[in-house]
Amino acid sequence: TPQHSSFLHCGPIAEADSFAVLHLKRDLLIPTVLRAHDELDEGYSEGKVSNTRFGSFPHSTLIGVPWGSQVRASTVDTGSRGRKGWEGKGKKRKRNEESQGQGDTAGVEKKQNAEIENKTAIEATTGFVHLLPPTPEIWTASLPHRTQVVYTPDYSYILHRLRARPGTVLIEAGAGSGSFTHAAARAVYNGFPESGTEVSSTQEPAEKRRGKIWSFEFHEQRAQKLQQEIKEHGLDGVVKLTYRDVCQDGFTPDDTPTSEVKANAIFLDLPAPWLGLKHLNRTNPSSPLSPTTTIHLCTFSPCIEQVQRTINTLRSLGWTEIEMVEIASKRIEVRRERVGLAEEGLRGVNDSPASVDEAVGRLREVEGRSRLFHNEEEEPGGAQVSKQQRLENIRSALEGRKLYKEGRLIHKAEPELKTHTSYLVFAVLPREWSEEDEKLAQGKWPAKV
Ligand code: SAM
Repeated sequence: TPQHSSFLHCGPIAEADSFAVLHLKRDLLIPTVLRAHDELDEGYSEGKVSNTRFGSFPHSTLIGVPWGSQVRASTVDTGSRGRKGWEGKGKKRKRNEESQGQGDTAGVEKKQNAEIENKTAIEATTGFVHLLPPTPEIWTASLPHRTQVVYTPDYSYILHRLRARPGTVLIEAGAGSGSFTHAAARAVYNGFPESGTEVSSTQEPAEKRRGKIWSFEFHEQRAQKLQQEIKEHGLDGVVKLTYRDVCQDGFTPDDTPTSEVKANAIFLDLPAPWLGLKHLNRTNPSSPLSPTTTIHLCTFSPCIEQVQRTINTLRSLGWTEIEMVEIASKRIEVRRERVGLAEEGLRGVNDSPASVDEAVGRLREVEGRSRLFHNEEEEPGGAQVSKQQRLENIRSALEGRKLYKEGRLIHKAEPELKTHTSYLVFAVLPREWSEEDEKLAQGKWPAKV
């Protein structure tokens, strides 16, 4: 339930049955549900075990630990117990299986196996992970991809433009791998009233202010997998996932009265969003849109032809403020590049030497290539100096330098961008203006005479 969702509120420590992420390194994250009891009930007190390339992590060493802690691998070789069904069935278990199978073979193999075992034990006792609470950003980086996904730079901007905030009711299709779903669930989640809390008469009942994601996916296996993840992550009170073709059947789940949906934000990540738009129209009697608020919409399409068709349909259905945006996220690395000695006429000796001796050593090495070492040269002012003298000059010039301060600042754009570049179309459907509204407005703002 949302009360137990570490995605929505993780608390200070990692609790049993909460969803957690084992951070091995920047690009290696293992999501897991912390379990105090081994699913196979093999009688070990360590609970479930996450087996990683940095060692084994019995969940008894993770549960009750403050989020963000560094946790060392188990010194107990849990990997040799021959369990089934644990995560990250890694090399270690394979090696153990292999070594068991080869028990009494030739001495060389035995020795090799012993070395492997020994190495494994060392890795297991020296490795560590950081225990992190899950966030949509971490989930996006570690989720099993079943489709292209919406990445953080895109969904943060989209949710901002959709005005997604606690209490927002958002329709999403297709749900795909659930990357956007998780970010949207956090954005609209409003918390739940403590039991027994009085709702003040000036506020809407808390139930009404609760945000919700009405999510749709027409690929059966994807829908099933996502449903399982939503449940495991405790998001089932916030996200209602329905398996259906929205272009054909619209955006109201079969078991829900149309009047219950009342969405005020829409995100369509579909190959043909224009086909779904006809259902998102207030004149349609089964419209899932809120009748009393402005609706903000975003579609996400890789091709400009899709954008054109979407915009044409939006125009014909009375949407306003139609705009297309493309997010080009770039990480810029800023660093100092030393002006090499090359630029000072000493080719072959540039920014790499960290010390004076190294610089001078390299000068000697490149003697053959440098005109400095071929001929005696004239110093500015006309004096003839020997090679030895020149080396001494360089040495004293280098000695006075603060190497870390040298060079000019440069910046480089990181070439690889982890974002699925698509065109984002935004549009607004103003709230319906009724005769009553008009009368009210006339009464409030009488025409000037
Ligand atoms: N937004 C998702 C995410 O962040 O993980 C990725 C969505 S994926 C690019 C598009 C999904 O739309 C696919 O899983 C596809 O099965 C689904 N889809 C396509 N047409 C659909 C339709 N008419 N109704 C429901 N789902 C549809």
